[in-house]
Amino acid sequence: MFTKQELDQFQMLRRDFHAYPELKYEEFRTSGKISALLKRWNFNGVYEGIGQTGVVGVLKGGGTAVSTETKTIGIRADMDALPLNEENTFSHASQYFGKMHACGHDGHMAILLAAAKKLAESRNFCGHVNFIFQPAEEGGSGAKAMIDDGLFDRFPCDEIYALHNWPGLPEGYFGFNCGAIMGSSNQFEIVIEGKGGHAAMPHMCVDPVVVASHVIQALQTVVSRVIKPIDPAVLSVSQVLAGDSPNIIGRSCKLLGTVRTFNMKTVDTIEKKIDLICENLPLAFGATAKFKFTRQYPPTVNSEKITKIAMDVVKDRFGETRIVRDVEPTMGAEDFAFMLEKVPGTYFFLGNGDIAGHHRDEGHGGGPCTLHNSNYDFNDKLISIGAEYWVTLVENRLSKF
Ligand SMILES: [Zn+2]
Ligand SMILES: [Zn+2]
Repeated sequence: MFTKQELDQFQMLRRDFHAYPELKYEEFRTSGKISALLKRWNFNGVYEGIGQTGVVGVLKGGGTAVSTETKTIGIRADMDALPLNEENTFSHASQYFGKMHACGHDGHMAILLAAAKKLAESRNFCGHVNFIFQPAEEGGSGAKAMIDDGLFDRFPCDEIYALHNWPGLPEGYFGFNCGAIMGSSNQFEIVIEGKGGHAAMPHMCVDPVVVASHVIQALQTVVSRVIKPIDPAVLSVSQVLAGDSPNIIGRSCKLLGTVRTFNMKTVDTIEKKIDLICENLPLAFGATAKFKFTRQYPPTVNSEKITKIAMDVVKDRFGETRIVRDVEPTMGAEDFAFMLEKVPGTYFFLGNGDIAGHHRDEGHGGGPCTLHNSNYDFNDKLISIGAEYWVTLVENRLSKF
């Protein structure tokens, strides 16, 4: 489908994105490049500044559908990098200290752009395709920002798709899951207020560190004793902040952590239980606690129907053997979840190859090729595989016949 020359160009483009990474909502150079390319390829419409730095490219097919209804597919790629210092030294390594494309969003963009160019040339489909380039996936709710900015009102989609490269899954294999594939992400903060004083005179104080240790223990019972064993959930206390000096009992102790689940009902149950613990347990020690709970990303839940359609595309183009059914979901979170709440669709994994990173160029940092790792690099072989996948999806779903 792609000539060697085309693939070299898109590899160069991917490596250019990699060398000039931009953090959430700062994707100005990146989104500018994307818009310019879509315009050069004669897209029917290129819309910038959606959800701050997001871009939507609208492409109309060249065929006439048998039915009079115009069908539209949305395909999303994320654009942002991570606040991480790259340890690779190959020539396309990050030019910016403390910024790195360590999640492969550089690759997701290159894949979608390669598909965009091919489809813009052939227009071998009926209906419309909305190419959605999203900012701030890494903790910035960029998908929500685009939706709040009218994404689906201005560019309605009947179905929506996204992929993520997946280290550890063999190169070019596709991992699908009907149902929840990523968890919901929620954050909590508990501030325990005691009474400070001299560490040699604890009887004059209410030690918030001791109270916090009991609260941490009680929190361990939420998932293990309250949530149904067949309903996966995680509650991690990840930060304990207290004290100024070994000879002082401080006045307060702050606990911070995360809650992950595959459905929002379980989040409700967990939130209520933490609240109950915070309200009652510190009281027994003469302390009080303030509890704050923030819901960040909902779970990423795939439509069964669309996931099966997406699997059939792999079968058609690459063969049944490249499909990994029921790929193991993860409690990592993904803000494509917000889009899937509005439009039926699917989010799947595309194997980036082994974690040893044999696909990486000379000069990689030597560490594992895993997501969010300073030694990571995207596997350029996925550009043609991913782009061929998107082109086939569009041609199959928006077939002329
Ligand atoms: Zn990431
Ligand atoms: Zn990512």
